[in-house]
Amino acid sequence: MTITPFITDHAIEVIYLISTALFILSLKWMSAPTTARHGVWAGELGMLLAIGGTLLHRGIVDYTWVASALVLGAIIGVPLGLVQMTAVPQRTALSHAFGALCVALVGTAEYYLRAPAVPKFMMAVLALEVILGSLTFTGSLMAAGKLQEILPQRPITYKGQNVVNISLLAIAIAVAAYLVIHPESTMLFPVIIAIPLLFGVLMIVPIGGADMPTVISLLNSYAGLSAAAMGFVLDSKLLIIAGALDGSSGLFLSVIMSKAMNRSFTNVLFGAFGQVQSAAASGEETRNVKSATAEEAAAILVAANSVVIVPGYGMAVAQAQHKVRELYDVLTRRGVDVKFAIHPVAGRMPGHMNVLLAEADIPYDKLLDMDAINSEFPQTDVALVIGANDVTNPAARTDPSSPIYGMPILDVDKARTVMVIKRGMSPGFAGIDNPLYYLDKTLMLFGDARAFVGDIVRQLAGEGHG
Ligand code: NAP
Repeated sequence: MTITPFITDHAIEVIYLISTALFILSLKWMSAPTTARHGVWAGELGMLLAIGGTLLHRGIVDYTWVASALVLGAIIGVPLGLVQMTAVPQRTALSHAFGALCVALVGTAEYYLRAPAVPKFMMAVLALEVILGSLTFTGSLMAAGKLQEILPQRPITYKGQNVVNISLLAIAIAVAAYLVIHPESTMLFPVIIAIPLLFGVLMIVPIGGADMPTVISLLNSYAGLSAAAMGFVLDSKLLIIAGALDGSSGLFLSVIMSKAMNRSFTNVLFGAFGQVQSAAASGEETRNVKSATAEEAAAILVAANSVVIVPGYGMAVAQAQHKVRELYDVLTRRGVDVKFAIHPVAGRMPGHMNVLLAEADIPYDKLLDMDAINSEFPQTDVALVIGANDVTNPAARTDPSSPIYGMPILDVDKARTVMVIKRGMSPGFAGIDNPLYYLDKTLMLFGDARAFVGDIVRQLAGEGHG
């Protein structure tokens, strides 16, 4: 299938320039809920132009392989795009794995095409590309496996683990440095593929499931950096810029997520978080809690002046956001002031709650970040927690022995009354008990979030409370 390109290199550069601008605008627009949709469209259009421009390149003399790759990619990509939103972190990890594999393969092919005469700078970039690509490939597969619970979520540690891991990486870097000076040593090149592949696995083994989203964001950053390195190898400014944007945004996101969990990067990577938690979870089971029915909850809500709804992962699992919108409507109509408290790591990915509540058309100005809402809890009549757990755990403030001690939380325990919708007494993602549930002011509303909120709405709408 041979097609003669009908477009000049200059025109392709212009297409690349437009797609670069669209990528930058996409990131800018995605930083606010009101413009986020435009951000997605800009990103999609930018990617379409980038792929289209590349396909018109005069270097392509035969489209057979390109067409096969497009079909294969679509066969894998379409089902990946249809996963539940709660599975997006592992889906993202798989995308990174594929991207990183591609980068490592291209780097390997470019090396063997150019060897033995590879200039020093080019060799250094190729080595960086292949090392980052390989470790990101296996690291991302491991991360996806842990999140999907195909692999055990528990961190697996042994004595001297960090020394082993760092030594392996050091060997790979030393071999890469040797190759920069002696690029003709083609026999050594597989070493800088094999060791990082192993390192990717070993790097993820000691990290608990609770830290996986942060690690995925970090792997995103590595995948971006390796793509930027590939841009140097292939002399593609677009790839350099897109890779740098990906690399830096992944890094920023990891920092934001680490801060929201009060963890340092080194703690996330070497801390084996999640190990002690299951032990802590079991001690509290005999303590008593007070529970209430939907009817009682409806009566309390309608008698309140101010209600703060705190959504979490359970709202996402139950897909309760539309029922929550109905609850917001019915309470607002009855003159109750309703706001939403958004914790930066509620759910399983950054912005998870914002996306769900935006889907249900909750007005953006009713969504308040943790820093904005925390001072309001002492004046709040009812804090209604819907499927959130860890992000409301007061042990993070009060118990220095808690694994999440120091993590900033939503101060729901300071509200006058707390109601918590969840199915049972299971812990959240961090695997620890929540003292909030045993407070005198707390009422547990046991049930699936969507069904329970629906019941409350029915009580309020049909049976004339207030
Ligand atoms: P969480 O602590 O994981 O708790 C979710 C709660 O929802 C569970 O206790 C569960 O209790 C309940 N639940 C599950 N399905 C439900 C359903 N159908 N109906 C009602 N309740 C249901 O959630 P979170 O408070 O949102 O905290 C997020 C956690 O993820 C934090 O530990 C955070 O550090 C971690 N994390 C998040 C991100 C991010 O980017 N968002 C990144 C890294 C880590 P039952 O089983 O008893 O119902």
